[in-house]
Amino acid sequence: MTKQLACACEDVSLDEVRRAFALGHRDLESVKRYTGFGTGPCQGKSCLALVVRELLRLGATPAEIVPFTARAPVQPVALGELATLDPAALPLDDGIPVEPPATDVPSAHPQAPLPAHADVVIVGGGIMGLALAAELAARGRTDVLVLEGAYLNAGASGRNGGGVRAQWSTPTMIRLARRSLELCDRFAVEMGVNVWFRRGGYLFLAPTKEQVARIERNAALHRREGLRTRVIGPAEALEVVPELDASRFLAASHNPDDGVVFPWPFLWGYAGKAEALGARVRTFTRVTGFETAGRRVAAVVTDRGRVACDTVVVAAGAWSKQVAALAGVALPNRPTRHEILVTEPLKPWLDPLVSVLGNGLYFSQSQRGELVGGMGDPAEPEGVVQGSTLRFLARFARAATAAVPALAGVKVLRQWAGCYDVTPDNNPVLGPAGLDNFHQLSGFVGHGFMMAPAVAELYADWLTGRGKDEIFDRFGVERFARGAVSREDFIIG
Ligand SMILES: Cc1cc2nc3c(=O)[nH]c(=O)nc-3n(C[C@H](O)[C@H](O)[C@H](O)COP(=O)(O)OP(=O)(O)OC[C@H]3O[C@@H](n4cnc5c(N)ncnc54)[C@H](O)[C@@H]3O)c2cc1C
Repeated sequence: MTKQLACACEDVSLDEVRRAFALGHRDLESVKRYTGFGTGPCQGKSCLALVVRELLRLGATPAEIVPFTARAPVQPVALGELATLDPAALPLDDGIPVEPPATDVPSAHPQAPLPAHADVVIVGGGIMGLALAAELAARGRTDVLVLEGAYLNAGASGRNGGGVRAQWSTPTMIRLARRSLELCDRFAVEMGVNVWFRRGGYLFLAPTKEQVARIERNAALHRREGLRTRVIGPAEALEVVPELDASRFLAASHNPDDGVVFPWPFLWGYAGKAEALGARVRTFTRVTGFETAGRRVAAVVTDRGRVACDTVVVAAGAWSKQVAALAGVALPNRPTRHEILVTEPLKPWLDPLVSVLGNGLYFSQSQRGELVGGMGDPAEPEGVVQGSTLRFLARFARAATAAVPALAGVKVLRQWAGCYDVTPDNNPVLGPAGLDNFHQLSGFVGHGFMMAPAVAELYADWLTGRGKDEIFDRFGVERFARGAVSREDFIIG
């Protein structure tokens, strides 16, 4: 049998492109994510035209083959070179490319018609919305409709670092994260999709006495909660990651049971399960308004028609604030850009996800060998902005090569950005807000991916009358008006 190669960098054949199309990944962004074509060093230069031709031949519409956004840097550049740039001299503007918001993608995609009515309409097909749909359907509530304005993985769920950790600073967050870790362990087998879950641990480096006190406080709580977290000195940290510069930190917090996943297949897994059980997922269907009657939403209005409903759940990530505003509901959420990058693949050398407390640097090694890492920028203003900046590359390169000098020779392949959905106390907004049947499942800052599997289970239990977990009292939006706010401070990035 001959193999017709579509993408030489990532070894993707034309047959794989055809299989993706047959499975419903029709638009170019989705085919790219499903097969991996165009994600190597040439960024699609050698394969884009070939795949476009093949998709057209298979019956894709012109709207579905809008070319994907090439990512900076245009050529692989070593971290050591980037570290010579002065971030302070580099602008924090919208960045390049200025991507259109995912929801502005043309919606001329052939989609099954919308139903006239659905019991539960979920706005947003990220991990939150899809996990909730799957969990509701698993509990027999199958008249569920997920409306996604773009393709699956367009939002933060398709742009994140895939970190899943139980090292938190409150018992509630530890409980949720541990449950998600358990679910990640089983996900591949139960959903029939490989998610590359790897428990290499998390190693938090504490460069100051204050940070050491912080990880010691947390570790005491972790031990009470049954985690294996230990505070270790630089010598022991070097046994975990020998390449660290031990002069840069005083102690480290290590939990060997934390892990990383490859995010994209989680969405395909949850969407597949939801649909197999009878729920409906409609991509390229943007919610543009809500019809209300008294204190209730009566229907969801989209760019493809109107759907009457009994319950609405807004799970639109960084867009949740603007979606809620369509129903006249104000949320305190502040969407803020967070940038991230991937390097060329290296031989396996790094077990844990490493994070430096204080400067927000984190990086881990994927199963394919690439380093995936990000770093928040305190100067970042509020806004749904997804362009990439040279300033981020310079800041990341300086911090990463300071933590691990040997990284200076490693080349950055691509950078991209997504948005954190930040709330005043770094905790999510869950439950009805403003209207009786208008629920929020948003405000997960930089940890929503790891919280989604556990929170979706609890949410589905609550919506199907199986009991209300305390998180829905703790994290209701009214806490801000009541002043009952307790801040989660163990945030990365
Ligand atoms: C760079 C980066 C790194 C991160 N790293 C981690 C990490 O390591 N671990 C972790 O747990 N979390 C991480 N996060 C956070 C995590 O990705 C998010 O908290 C999580 O993915 C949020 O999921 P969601 O489903 O709520 O939102 P999203 O995934 O953003 O999904 C919302 C969806 O709503 C759609 N939408 C918007 N408006 C409309 C509309 N009007 N109509 C219909 N659909 C609409 C969007 O297209 C989008 O697909 C990171 C985030 C970023 C940006």
